[in-house]
Amino acid sequence: MNPTATESREQTIAVLSAGERFLLVTHEHPDGDALGSLLSMSLILRSLGKDVVGFIAADDLPLSYEYDWLDVSEVVSEIPEDADQRVVVFLDCGNTERSPLVDQAAAPEQLLNIDHHHDNTRFGTIDYVVEEASSTAEIVWDLARGLEVPLTLEIAEALYLGLITDTGRFMYPNATARSHAMATELLAAGIDGNLIFRRVYENLPEAKLHLFARALSGAERYLDGRLTLSLLSNDDFEECGAPPSYTEGIVDFLRAVDGTRVAALIRETTDESGESYRISMRASDGEIDVSKIARAGGGGGHPAAAGFKSELPKAELIDLLCAQISEQS
Ligand code: 5GP
Ligand code: MN
Repeated sequence: MNPTATESREQTIAVLSAGERFLLVTHEHPDGDALGSLLSMSLILRSLGKDVVGFIAADDLPLSYEYDWLDVSEVVSEIPEDADQRVVVFLDCGNTERSPLVDQAAAPEQLLNIDHHHDNTRFGTIDYVVEEASSTAEIVWDLARGLEVPLTLEIAEALYLGLITDTGRFMYPNATARSHAMATELLAAGIDGNLIFRRVYENLPEAKLHLFARALSGAERYLDGRLTLSLLSNDDFEECGAPPSYTEGIVDFLRAVDGTRVAALIRETTDESGESYRISMRASDGEIDVSKIARAGGGGGHPAAAGFKSELPKAELIDLLCAQISEQS
């Protein structure tokens, strides 16, 4: 029988308390919640005197401009040699395929899987998956309470980053009373909320403005507007001088268009040979579950925010999206 959430929480706290050496990891191309939960958990465990190594793949460093204020000086990009003797903690990572650690680390004795994705594959020796949590940061915040670790300014800032990015600045339905209570506590701990918002959202490199302009002017509507999508090609990125991470936020604009049920941003990827796309989707209301569409395409995510990679040509890919949306509505 699966342990209850309360049991998983207690087991998680027990392992975090008892362990001495930890290796913390998150998903590839870490977003605000991935970084915020990884860094806050590192600081929480260090404040308990633990030996903590946080891992971020070399490909994902340096961090994109939104996150370049975070202190990643202690983060490593090499798996430590004693990894198999460390408690490995996965944060915000729905499955092991999304981790760059896969195939690299020997199977650890203890693998804590702390996450909020409903489609998490439960790959840990302990799975603490809180689907109702707005963010993994919200779970880490609660664990800090359980561990009785006071929130330093640095911990609170990292937690706030995870909270604001995964709730779309408190806009998505996952922003509950509890999420707001967490924000209250972080503000009371001394964070400058406005400063963090400005660092993350109002620090746009000009190239990002040009990329947004292309994506928005090239937006297309399908299914009488229920699907609003935009495709950015390799040339778009090159001509704007923008890396792929600058697409962050575009899909939220597409979703806001009247009549849209699903917004999709498709970007051409250069990492594989041949035509290949990465699809990022958002649902506008509870009607369509985009994680189902993502799973049909081999990916995953949340009902309201999900993604997948595809090798289909553009027209077939759009057909797939339309068929999946029609099936659900
Ligand atoms: P984004 O569109 O911001 O890249 O991702 C939205 C959500 O979908 C995130 O919660 C992310 O974890 C999930 N997601 C995106 N791409 C994939 C994927 O390829 N596989 C899985 N399992 N989840 C994904
Ligand atoms: Mn998250």
